[in-house]
Amino acid sequence: KGTLYLVPTPIGNLSDMTERAISVLKEVDCIAAEDTRHTRILLNHLDIHTPMVAYHEHNKHEAGPKLIEKMKEGMSLAQLSDAGMPVISDPGADLVKLALEEDVPVVPLPGPNAALTALVASGLDARQFTFIGFLPKTTAKADKLIDQVEPLFMPLIFYEAPHRLKATLKYLRKHLGNRKAVLARELTKKFETFTRGTLDELLQELETEPARGEYVVLVAGKSDEEAQQERSEESDWRKRAQELA
Ligand code: SAM
Repeated sequence: KGTLYLVPTPIGNLSDMTERAISVLKEVDCIAAEDTRHTRILLNHLDIHTPMVAYHEHNKHEAGPKLIEKMKEGMSLAQLSDAGMPVISDPGADLVKLALEEDVPVVPLPGPNAALTALVASGLDARQFTFIGFLPKTTAKADKLIDQVEPLFMPLIFYEAPHRLKATLKYLRKHLGNRKAVLARELTKKFETFTRGTLDELLQELETEPARGEYVVLVAGKSDEEAQQERSEESDWRKRAQELA
């Protein structure tokens, strides 16, 4: 049987390609790329000439089983996305599932990922964290998810496209309160910037400097003070209810 390698690629800085990722891409029989034109640029830069096929959200149901069949016959495959770690807010999960069902070995390579890169320099308490990625598109699903994570005491990590950044920050402000937050912009690139402040302050800044480039949004977990305040509001409310009874 062949092996399925999950190969991370740079999130902006080509030097972040690891030596191991380069050798795997050179040695495998085939590369499954989210966007073959995009990946061609990276492969040309690295002088890699391995054959490539497309594997993305829109063809995964047809392409996935075919690739697995070939791997059962011995083909080794490297799967990668446009940037960062495959599977994480990117294609790959279905291929991993199929491979495991068919006993095809899955080998992950460590490497670039926007969420972790943002978290470690955010200054937020990184002992535990919750990765959300992109919020669900429908309001009902987003509301349900945000209600579930609202009580957590650990930072929440979101991905967002620049044209939706402001709306998402407003949404988070409304559902999580005016918490501390960090915008990690253009990580590993020339204009890498970290902006730290409350959600209100970050929204204020976007008024003067509209969103451009790629962003990770990190929001601090619920603070002891917030939880304390909610508890005291609740006990005030109970006391009042008892007085009225
Ligand atoms: N698989 C990728 C990873 O491991 O980070 C994530 C892919 S997801 C489709 C793309 C989102 O990741 C962007 O919308 C942005 O939120 C975040 N992102 C990717 N590259 C980034 C960068 N250089 N700086 C900041 N955020 C980035």
